Parts: sequence; structure tokens; C-alpha cells
Amino acid sequence: RTVYVNGDYLPETEAKVSIFDRGFLMADGVYEVTSVLGGKLIDFDGHAKRLERSLGELDMAAPVTMDDLLEIHRQLVARNGITDGLVYLQITRGSAGDRDFAFPDPATTPSTIVLFTQNKPGLAQSPQAEAGIKVISIEDIRWGRRDIKTVQLLYPSMGKMMAKKAGVDDAWMVEDGFVTEGTSNNAYIVKGGKIITRALSTEILHGITRAAVLRFAEEAQMEVEERNFSIEEAKAADEAFITSASSFVMPVVEIDGAALGAGTPGPVARRLREIYLDESLKTAV
Ligand code: PMP
Repeated sequence: RTVYVNGDYLPETEAKVSIFDRGFLMADGVYEVTSVLGGKLIDFDGHAKRLERSLGELDMAAPVTMDDLLEIHRQLVARNGITDGLVYLQITRGSAGDRDFAFPDPATTPSTIVLFTQNKPGLAQSPQAEAGIKVISIEDIRWGRRDIKTVQLLYPSMGKMMAKKAGVDDAWMVEDGFVTEGTSNNAYIVKGGKIITRALSTEILHGITRAAVLRFAEEAQMEVEERNFSIEEAKAADEAFITSASSFVMPVVEIDGAALGAGTPGPVARRLREIYLDESLKTAV
């Protein structure tokens, strides 16, 4: 696989980053994941804009322009022959060569930028989307700036392991009695045809897929309500689903052991998945 590190395209075995890099020592960095369908990037603009926002919130400078970033994404897709898959991008604060809690001077310490691809043939034809996924609920104990897409993913990883151990696919996190989001996705329920999802705040990641799906839902005259919901309300809902760049719209058929509706993907989630895949391909670059 050819990867990109600080200006160079290299075989993955030759790519190197300092052991003093603050991404490695302190999870001091941000990332994005953009999906590739039919060789094209889905929602690239949205991911680039959120990256700029994440960098800004952490007083980090972008080491490349957003135009360069698109070119690097395209180069990696081409060089690795990706038809369906993902492009992972990470920018960390670099290091002045030692371990120090204070940020180094950005004028003399360049950030570290790394991109690589993941090949996922048939990404949009997932059998999981046909069956739907099962989730458990866990407590949300993450930090308070979940709107910044940092590489600090230890608790979401632990949540994923709790789900695996419980024999299900993912975990929905709950804070003060209300669902925040999934370990790596935004969470939704459907009641009486209405799509309900938590409103944007610092408590959740502002999903790029979420923004697109809500826009498409409104364009299709589907009703959307942005508000908190509890696990009890979710268990009694007609349907549930998640969204993310890598899963698009994925139906949820079971929450904490309780089957939703018929225990199969619901019509709203199915329809939104279809609309999202159709519409986002039209603006893919
Ligand atoms: N919430 C969290 C916690 C996530 O990690 C992700 C995916 N990175 C999402 C939501 C979905 O965001 P997006 O649609 O931009 O992939």
C-alpha cells in the first residue's frame, strides 16, 4: 500500500513518524475518514470543512491547503487502485523533540500529516445493512469536547469491546439519561414516521453523514425532530439507525436485547440509506 506522510508518497513499510510526536504521546491530533465509492470521494467538502474546524478549535494550523488535501486523497485512491473503500487522514501537532505538556511553537514545529487508504470492495452492498445491527447501551464517560474529531478514541474502543463481549455490534452511549451517539456514529430513532436525533452541541460529533441525511430527509418531506431521547424511548421506537461515513445509513434492529418493531430493518432507515447512496454519489468527487 502507498501511504502519504509529510509531503511524500511512500510504501507503508517505509513511512516513519517520530516517537516524540504528540499524536503518539498525548493523542494530540485530529482525523477524518472519507469513504470512496466507484473511485470517488463521498462528501469530501464536508470532511475538509470539519477538519479545518477541528484544527482551529485546537489552535493547530493546516499543514496543506484543502485543495492539496483533495489532490492527496485522489492520488492515494488512484495509486492504490481503490474502487470502494476509505481514506484515513490524521494531523497531529508534531513535537519539538521531547515530552512537554505545553504546546510547542507552531512556527518552529511543523504538524505531522499522514493519510492512508483502506480497500473495502462492495462497501455499499453490506450484508449488515440487510440484517441490521444490534446495540447495547453504555455510560458515556468521554471528555466534553466531542465536537472536535480527535484521535483520542480509547473509550469508544472500549465501548466497541463491551459490545463484542455482549455479542452485539456496537454500543450507544448514554449521558444524564439520554443517548449521545454510537461509538463511531450518530444515533437516530423513528416514531410515527418522524426521525428523531440529538441536536448538535459539544456533546456529540457533528457527523458529515448526519448533515447530509437530515438534508435529504427534509427534501423528501420526511419529518425530522432534533431533540434528546432516552434508551427507554428508543426501545419503544418503531425503528432505529445510525449514520457514519463508513456505514452510511445502517439500520439498528435491537437495543439492549429488545427487538425494534419486527426485528428487521424498518422502511424509513431503508429509504434513507437508498437516498443517501444515490444523492451523495451525485456530488462525489
Ligand atoms: N460520532 C462519532 C463519535 C464518530 O466517531 C463518528 C465517525 N467518525 C460519527 C459520529 C459520524 O460522523 P461522520 O458521519 O462524519 O462519519
